Amino acid sequence: MTQPTCRFCHAPLTLDLIDLGEQPLSNAYLTQAQLDSGKEGVYPLHVRVCEACWLVQADDPVAHEAIFDDDYAYFSSYSPGWVAHAKRYAEAMKARFGLDADSLVAEVASNDGYLLQHFVAMDVPVLGIEPTANTAAVAIDKGVPTEVAFFNAATATALAGRGIRADLMAANNVLAHVPDIADFVAGFPILLKPQGVLTFEFPHLLKLIELVQFDTIYHEHFSYLSLLAVEKVLAANGMKAFDVEQLPTHGGSLRLFCAHEGADHAETEALRDIRAAEAAAGLDSRTPYESFTARAEAVRDGLVAFLDRAEAEGRRVAAYGAAAKGNTFLNYAHIAAPRIEAVFDANVHKQGRYLPGSHVPILAPSEIATVRPDYLIILPWNLKDEIVAQMAMIRDWGGRFVIAVPEIEVID
Ligand SMILES: [Zn+2]
Repeated sequence: MTQPTCRFCHAPLTLDLIDLGEQPLSNAYLTQAQLDSGKEGVYPLHVRVCEACWLVQADDPVAHEAIFDDDYAYFSSYSPGWVAHAKRYAEAMKARFGLDADSLVAEVASNDGYLLQHFVAMDVPVLGIEPTANTAAVAIDKGVPTEVAFFNAATATALAGRGIRADLMAANNVLAHVPDIADFVAGFPILLKPQGVLTFEFPHLLKLIELVQFDTIYHEHFSYLSLLAVEKVLAANGMKAFDVEQLPTHGGSLRLFCAHEGADHAETEALRDIRAAEAAAGLDSRTPYESFTARAEAVRDGLVAFLDRAEAEGRRVAAYGAAAKGNTFLNYAHIAAPRIEAVFDANVHKQGRYLPGSHVPILAPSEIATVRPDYLIILPWNLKDEIVAQMAMIRDWGGRFVIAVPEIEVID
């Protein structure tokens, strides 16, 4: 096998973060017919660290067409918490940067319009840029103008050629998902006005490492981002970061505020604090990366031991959330149906299907009363509070909630 190289700086990748083995695509929920066919593609899931630029990145064995096909099961608006997060963002950006009817807000990977709809409601013009046609169609139906395109330098140049320039650009939870981070980031300075602001939101690598969030690794997620690495990518494109907020989303994310290098926005104390925290954790050294695999194995073994005990005690175990996170965890730990009897999920597009790899059947939350699990493992632990509130009825029969990351916790 040839030595893989960094997709940003092209240095050879000689340091592992973790090798999660051969895994199916985490959003490839199986129909009954697909399950019966016995055929399921698996691909290596191996994350490495570039010791030249410190970009943490997955190997790239899967054509992105296989990931972002027209059957793309993810519609942003299905999570009420996520839509509320987007609304707060829109209100905060309008107030901070004085956006009005003469402004333009452009969002990359705008999905079903879950975010831009809030600017439309405040009479701020918007443009969505979204690669999947079926989600873009939902956005357009809501009154969110949307271009169906992958965002990159060529797409930005084409839009700029039509006179489009943005005051605010948002790329929230997409930077980590693009295979070619260099070509993707190169698009922003082309569309951004001279004093325009760009915000990226991405799960923070520092949190992934500190809290052993190995289950946030999946094929759709090509990069695991630190401020350290992102600042190098920005600088290569004539841009700078000037402010940052820490968000609780996805277990701990950064919202990074960026602009053209020569723009007036001054660097904040908050940005310097994150730089210092990453330096204190040694993210520019081998140490935190080298110890990660052993820590992930301990978390994995904790859930396996919990299931062994539950089985010995004759308990019924189910899960909540047919999410990518859960799929990585279950497949890494080789936990499959019927050890977990069912997984409940509110997304009607997933109900009636099976989780990839583990083949756990996905049921509507209303069916939980027929399964009556003693333990309900919350796979998307980042939505713990929301799910505990929604599924409180399990307490009627003595059911309890379980979280597996960063360690087994039974919530009483
Ligand atoms: Zn590199």
